[in-house]
Amino acid sequence: MIAAVVGAVLAGLLVAPALRGLVVRYAVPEGEPWCTACPLCGRTLRGLPPTGRCPGCRERLGPGAWRVELVAVAVAAAVAVATDGPQGVALVWAAGLGVVLAFVDARVRRLPYPLTLALAAGVAGLLVAAALTDGRPGVLLRCLLVALAAAALFELPVWFGLMGGGDSPLAFALGALLGWYGWGAAFTALFAAVLSAGLWGLGRAAAALARRRPVRGIELPMGPFLLLGTVVAVSLR
Ligand SMILES: [Zn+2]
Repeated sequence: MIAAVVGAVLAGLLVAPALRGLVVRYAVPEGEPWCTACPLCGRTLRGLPPTGRCPGCRERLGPGAWRVELVAVAVAAAVAVATDGPQGVALVWAAGLGVVLAFVDARVRRLPYPLTLALAAGVAGLLVAAALTDGRPGVLLRCLLVALAAAALFELPVWFGLMGGGDSPLAFALGALLGWYGWGAAFTALFAAVLSAGLWGLGRAAAALARRRPVRGIELPMGPFLLLGTVVAVSLR
């Protein structure tokens, strides 16, 4: 167990520069091109160091120093503790892209399709491979049903104009993953997501009141909370 966690922490630190590069690339407002080069010096961006500063001009791009790295290490450790079967590869894939999506959504309130589609396609393919390796293809039906239910749950408010789109492909991918563990895990994840989003919203409202600012217009990105709920559900099961 300790060896697995140490390995996961090292792996988290190793992939963090690439994750940070993806955050900067996709954290752009709707309608703007992806940020593939430093806006100041024009240097092509792939990975970024933990300081978040451009290697060319030292300008800080994206999240603050060590933030992505800390989240990546924490999520990697949680996945290492929770993983005990062939579905682990799908879990690792979801963890990596999930960290990127959480930072992008927190920053620009959107979940870009290249990321959510890569997440959904990867999770689907890896779960099919895991189920076949494990000799129980039947579990895939439950994965599909939970995925469809989760996507519908986040698509309905969009149809009624209550929410922006973008959450449902993420919900589909996470639903498929949670379906591997059962409906209970999916309900735990949803409950944890709604609870943490509610607490965060209350905290923001209280902070606004304390500074005598209007409470109206506190917008919550749902992506980070859905991802957090999934980590909680997979860890608790
Ligand atoms: Zn630069």
